[in-house]
Amino acid sequence: MPGRSQEVTTPLGDTRDRILLAAFQMPSRQNMVQRKSSITNAFVNAIIPVVQPSVEEIAEALSILKITPENVTCAYCGDSSSEWDHLRPLVRNQRPTGFVSEIANLVPACGKCNQSKGNKEWRQWILSNARLSPTGRRILDTPARVELLDKFERWRSPTLVDFPRILGTEAWTHYWSLCDEINSDMREAQVVAESMRIEILRRIA
Ligand SMILES: [Zn+2]
Repeated sequence: MPGRSQEVTTPLGDTRDRILLAAFQMPSRQNMVQRKSSITNAFVNAIIPVVQPSVEEIAEALSILKITPENVTCAYCGDSSSEWDHLRPLVRNQRPTGFVSEIANLVPACGKCNQSKGNKEWRQWILSNARLSPTGRRILDTPARVELLDKFERWRSPTLVDFPRILGTEAWTHYWSLCDEINSDMREAQVVAESMRIEILRRIA
């Protein structure tokens, strides 16, 4: 076992170091290129139409999911819900899937699940050990929730937008070239930023 012999010779010091190192957490170094998916998500989200549900549709959606309107809980894990999440993701491979913001594609979710699920397919994610996924968090009634979500998915065929057909291929291609330009500018800026960061560290070290 690594570190074992050290533990034997200096048990107190070693434990103290371990506790102190575990207590500290350096903020992760930000990199502009990591923002590529958030820029792409912004380009997708900016064009997604929002379709308001009727009161009856809200009642129906909640009843399928066995959630009471007085106490809206996360359809994935059962915690208190903080938002409604797109069941089928809006983005795949850096492009819109065609799904929109409408009740047929929205379920109540908690922040943990929403953050953990991201743009993943719901079934694959919920059954995976992804960080903060219901399976990863050992939520026992996950199979029952999967059944309800299955039922919800069958409730209605969601709208699937063919963006290039509605907007024209030229306008569509132009829109994504704007996104690619921004991403490429960010990559360029990141190279400059990286050498600046190294220079700053050298001066203050
Ligand atoms: Zn949840």
